[in-house]
Amino acid sequence: MQTMDKKRLGLYLHIPFCRSKCAYCDFFSLVPSNEDLVERYINALILHMHSYRTGAKDYAPDTVFIGGGTPTSIGTDMLLKLIRAVRRNFSVIRGAEWTVEANPATVDVAMLNRLRRAGVNRLSMGLQSANNNELAALSRIHRRQDFEASFRAARRARIGNINVDLMFGIPYQTRQSFLKTLRYVVHLGPEHVSLYDLMLEPGTQLYAQRQTLPFPSEDEEVDMYLTAVDFLAQHGYAQYEISNFARPGYMCRHNLKYWNCEEYLGLGVAAHSFFMGNRFSFIRNLDRYMNGLEIPSSAIRLTDQNDAVSPRERLGEYIMLRFRLAAGLNVREFARLFGVSFEQLYGRKMQPYIQGGYATYKNGVYALTPKGMFVSNYILSDILEFADLGQINMFDGTR
Ligand code: SF4
Repeated sequence: MQTMDKKRLGLYLHIPFCRSKCAYCDFFSLVPSNEDLVERYINALILHMHSYRTGAKDYAPDTVFIGGGTPTSIGTDMLLKLIRAVRRNFSVIRGAEWTVEANPATVDVAMLNRLRRAGVNRLSMGLQSANNNELAALSRIHRRQDFEASFRAARRARIGNINVDLMFGIPYQTRQSFLKTLRYVVHLGPEHVSLYDLMLEPGTQLYAQRQTLPFPSEDEEVDMYLTAVDFLAQHGYAQYEISNFARPGYMCRHNLKYWNCEEYLGLGVAAHSFFMGNRFSFIRNLDRYMNGLEIPSSAIRLTDQNDAVSPRERLGEYIMLRFRLAAGLNVREFARLFGVSFEQLYGRKMQPYIQGGYATYKNGVYALTPKGMFVSNYILSDILEFADLGQINMFDGTR
């Protein structure tokens, strides 16, 4: 089959290593004890890709996302080895979006030049805040100056599509300090900005400090979020998703696949997939993951969950994902996909939110306003009648 006739796929590769652990992080990431461990993991990940060579032969990735963790912490040679293995095992289309996540202080021009020549055309950089006291409270490894040096290095390496991750809800953050961060970022001029609400996850260092550090109040957080939506729009970054803003033509094609319910294959320890109608994730245990791939006869089960998605689940998921997007939910498309009327099922429940300014309905499209997006977990819990409000977190994905 020719590449152009194959089905499109988002390919995600997880690198679980970081230079040190941030105070708020509950992602599957660890500080490697030595370089051999990194190399062993990369070799296992390559074996994993190879194992999908036949199963994914009818697919051609049009996006490749190397995320983590901090992929750039493993060094240029390891990253290039991985990229070569992607090309050997998958028919990546010409013009694909290739993203690598990077942290300031783990990149330089030489590395970025080599990555760009290997095909990487998008860099996602974690700044979080332009205020060094806030970065210290998060125990990030970098200061604003390190970020700026890395950002300029990326431009010198002619990477023309850069995302910058920001956060609100950080200890010591105020409206003024947050505005300083926003002004700083738009002055640098990345193509894309992601903005996440800092979540206090049990088990993290920051969670243990929740009573002693000065966190912004919830009202201040709402204010910061709505301020950011306006400020970024005024500077040419349109909100297209609850946490994502882009200049025209620079929406993240890979992440859009998640929100548009398109297929993606996530390989690596703890990676998630939606592939051939199934949702599954790989085990969150590094040793078992590597052993399972190195010794196929070990019969180690690599998947944690493997669920066929029922039509009812698909409907609920579709609604949650569409309401993440500024483009919203089109009732005609909903009827075509599910054979039922969104208005009949949920129209009455949407009314109070429309009247309160949390949602809009125009030309057959329901969408949440920025104010509605901030409380979207409550709105969705209400309309979908989830018993447990904690089941969904629309601001997930914080780096
Ligand atoms: S927040 Fe990001 S950089 Fe920090 S430890 Fe977690 S994965 Fe690593």
